[in-house]
Amino acid sequence: MKRRPLIAGNWKMHTTTVEARELATAIAVICAGLDDRDVLLSPPYTVLRDVAECVSRTGIIVAAQNVCWEEKGAYTGEISPIMVRAAGGSAAIVGHSERRQIFLETDELVNRRLTGALASGLMVILCIGETLAEREGGDTFAVLERQVRKGLAGIGGEAMVGVVIAYEPVWAIGTGKTASKEQAQEVHAFIRSLLAAIYGKNIADQTRILYGGSVKPANIDELMAQPDIDGALVGGAALDAQSFGRIITFR
Ligand code: PEP
Repeated sequence: MKRRPLIAGNWKMHTTTVEARELATAIAVICAGLDDRDVLLSPPYTVLRDVAECVSRTGIIVAAQNVCWEEKGAYTGEISPIMVRAAGGSAAIVGHSERRQIFLETDELVNRRLTGALASGLMVILCIGETLAEREGGDTFAVLERQVRKGLAGIGGEAMVGVVIAYEPVWAIGTGKTASKEQAQEVHAFIRSLLAAIYGKNIADQTRILYGGSVKPANIDELMAQPDIDGALVGGAALDAQSFGRIITFR
């Protein structure tokens, strides 16, 4: 089953307005003419509109790094799906490990975010991943199954067209340690079989599963050659147009 590759850049808490516009513009130039893959940029909220402007009419998707489930209200510090859309975004990341680990977001909270975002028409990247202790304790698959089942609770098969899963082993994020292509493929195949058990084979075959965790120009090609790896969620290397450009143009 051929799935359209998706390369996503998570800028985390980086870039002021000038930096964001420069980076987005440089990436837009690299993407010109690339029509067999999707590219997504996820800048901080404060520059969402700037980035959307810089990449308008390029097909590059602009995503928020998190999103609230409500449209508006007393939720200090949160941003709603309609605000993301009004700023030019069409997608959101939820459940990133930094949100889970540093800000103590639970599977239930992640599920509320995902449900609200999908309901308002945003594409959602649901991040899942085990910690080093969980991997070493032999709990990787159990943790991922819990994160998938709870993260997608209440989401019907028809809504899965708007969902992308990102497998990001926590021990590989920002550490320079990448999961080997075999380790990543093993987990991606597991996630796809889990999706098949929940939603059936067709939906599992259509759902894109990204790998994230120290993806670099040097390892993107071998990762993308794996049958169940449909793209990458890139942190550090997404902040440099040349590196990200090489990742986008994987072979
Ligand atoms: C991420 O932010 O999701 C990520 C995978 O970061 P890095 O590529 O820096 O490991």
